[in-house]
Parts: sequence; structure tokens; C-alpha cells
Amino acid sequence: MKKNKLGINTICTHVGAIEDRQFKGATSPIYLSSSYEFMDVDVKRYPRYFNTPNQEYLAKKIAALEHAEAALLFGSGMAAISSTLFAFLKAGDHVVVQNDIYGGTRNLIAKQFDKYNISYTFTNGLSVEDFQDAIQANTKLVYIETPSNPLLKLVDLAAIASLCKRESIISIIDNTFATPVVQNPVDFGIDIVVHSATKYFGGHSDLCAGAVAASQEHINKIWELAKDFGGSLSDFTVWMLERSLKTLGIRVKAQQRNAKKLAKFLNKHEAISKVYYPGLKSHPDYDLAKQQMRGYGAMLSFDIIEELNAKVFLKALQLIKPSMSLAGIESTMILPAEASHALLSKEERLEQGIGDNLIRFSVGIEDKNDLINDIETALSIIAEGKLVNTI
Ligand SMILES: *Cc1c(COP(=O)(O)O)cnc(C)c1O
Repeated sequence: MKKNKLGINTICTHVGAIEDRQFKGATSPIYLSSSYEFMDVDVKRYPRYFNTPNQEYLAKKIAALEHAEAALLFGSGMAAISSTLFAFLKAGDHVVVQNDIYGGTRNLIAKQFDKYNISYTFTNGLSVEDFQDAIQANTKLVYIETPSNPLLKLVDLAAIASLCKRESIISIIDNTFATPVVQNPVDFGIDIVVHSATKYFGGHSDLCAGAVAASQEHINKIWELAKDFGGSLSDFTVWMLERSLKTLGIRVKAQQRNAKKLAKFLNKHEAISKVYYPGLKSHPDYDLAKQQMRGYGAMLSFDIIEELNAKVFLKALQLIKPSMSLAGIESTMILPAEASHALLSKEERLEQGIGDNLIRFSVGIEDKNDLINDIETALSIIAEGKLVNTI
């Protein structure tokens, strides 16, 4: 069978499963050995070499999902991201980085790169011209994230890929927000795809992992550094992640169906001044979303009108939980000004369009009417002023 001809749910369910030859069980056995035979074997296996049976086989599923040749699993999204970046960089190199990327990645670059004499430029905006302008003679990598956090802006995958090919620069995308259910950057010519598997891949808010998918050649290069950095994943978690990935397709599709409905509902609500969701016709990147995404993902953001207080609103919700993280089957909301972007000054935040009343909404699989009721009830409670003084 040709792997990439399989439908996404079949890849999720079957690719990379380890056959239980001994007992014929339905699921992959879990191999916990940290010590393997070294003589007369094809592969010298060791957990930190990223090649225990569970790691090796689950990597096949992730590669198939991302339409890539190979993949590696990591102990966290940041372990995948840091290992990938450092695998391709040396002193004197330069990196072009999208300006509004995940805070942890931004910190890694802004706090660590100087001491290795690796320079970087954060782009002014998200257009291909903004990336072009930031490229220098010593630029090695371009790093993007689309849809972006928290305003769900899009970067043109095909345009960035062809710019990078023209300039012989490696392109890397953080595909955590979209997932391969919604977007396959490799199909547009992007070289390397990284993931925080803590988010949609895990999907149940109960594990921390990372992944990278790319050509075999790029994965070999990342592996060379990764085994020295040592950020491999425990086989218990690999096994949990395999179980989680079986439902990635149906989870994300259900979540994005809900997200589209919730975005439309919020867009019409008088207490909401603005909704950021690439699936709304009013979104500036709506056409681009249609070109490069299948659906529009399950993350959205919105501004509550100035007269109301977003923190009080979050306290008034019963079903939807305030939460630091995202992408679980349960709906959660976060105030970027208080969490992901709390380290920026208010001016810096406002410059990026992140006001105090901006809420990022990770839409779950609950029944959409219950989510709508929860939001409507909370908004009416705070509009009546019943909760204002309790905070
Ligand atoms: C959470 C996240 C990361 C970091 O992943 P960890 O698993 O927390 O290390 C990277 N990128 C994005 C977009 C994320 O949401």
C-alpha cells in the first residue's frame, strides 16, 4: 500500500502500529527496555538515540501524517524546536523569524542565540516581502508559524517555500496550531515541520511531547545533534501519544466544525467587538486560508467590548475553563495579555494588536449549543454587572 494515498483517519489508526506477533493483541506493545543487544543487529537501539521500537514506529505515523519521509519524537515541543534549529546553525549564521511566533521559541532565539554568535531578524510583518527584506547573505533558516498566535494571521506557505528555495535557505514551520489534518506544509515545499505534540497530537491535556518531520536527509542531520542534546521522549508517553493520534483526524475535524460555528456566533454578538478566525470572510487572509488549509482550524480569538472586563467574563464561564495551554478536547480560553504575552509591556502588546480584552479560544468537542449557552450566560451576567465587584 502507498502510504500517502491513505486517508488521514486510516493513517491515524494504522500507520506505524507495532504488530503484536506474540499475543495478537489489537494495539502496539510497549517496549520499555533501555538496553538492547548490540551484536548481530541492524540497529543499535537506545532511548536517547530516538530509536526504541515505539519511538521508531510512531515516527512513521507522524511522517505519514505530514507527507514527509521521516520524523523524530521529542520530550517536548521546545526540545523538537531547539534541536532542529541548532542542528542547522553555527556561529556566524543568521535566521529570519516570523515576528509573532510562540513565546517559548521567541525566548529561545532572543535569549540564547547571541551567546552562540547566531544572529536573527524578526520580520516586520507576515507578507513574503517582509521575509524577503529580512534575508541576509548569511541567512540559513526561515522560521514561520501559521496560523499565528493569538491573532490567527496566515503566512503564504507556497510563497515562503519558493523564496527559500530561490535563496537556498531551509524553511521551518511550527504546524502545531493547524495540525496535518488542516494543513500539510510539505506539499507547498516547506522543508521541515515541527510540532508541540503536547497540543492537538496529544489532544487530552495529559502529555508533553514534540515532533519534527522532514526529508530523511534533514532528519538525519537533526538526529546527529538531537542525540547529543538528549531530549528524547519516554516510551510510556510515546505509547500514550500513539493512542492519542488514532483520533487526531476526528478530533480536529470536530473541533474545527465547532470553531467555525462559534466564530460566526461571536461575530454577531453585540458584546464582542472583533473576531479573529481565518474562516470568516471578513478575515484578511480568508482567501489564503482557502488555498492552503482544509478548513480553518479550531483556534480563534476575540475582543470583548471595552465596557466589559474579560477577566470577569472568564470567571463567569461555567463550562469553558481558563487554561494556559490549548488544543485539548475540552474548550479553554486564555487572556494572552495575562499569559503568553505577559512579559511584553502594554505598549508592545497593543502594537501587536493584543489588548487586555483579547481572549484566545481553543475550541473543544463539546456540543456547540452548550458552548454558546455558556458564553451567552457569562456575557449577560457581566453585562448586568452582577460579577464586576467580585473580582
Ligand atoms: C506549546 C507550543 C510550543 C511548545 O511546546 P511544548 O510542548 O510546550 O514544549 C511550540 N509551539 C507552539 C505553537 C505551541 O503552542
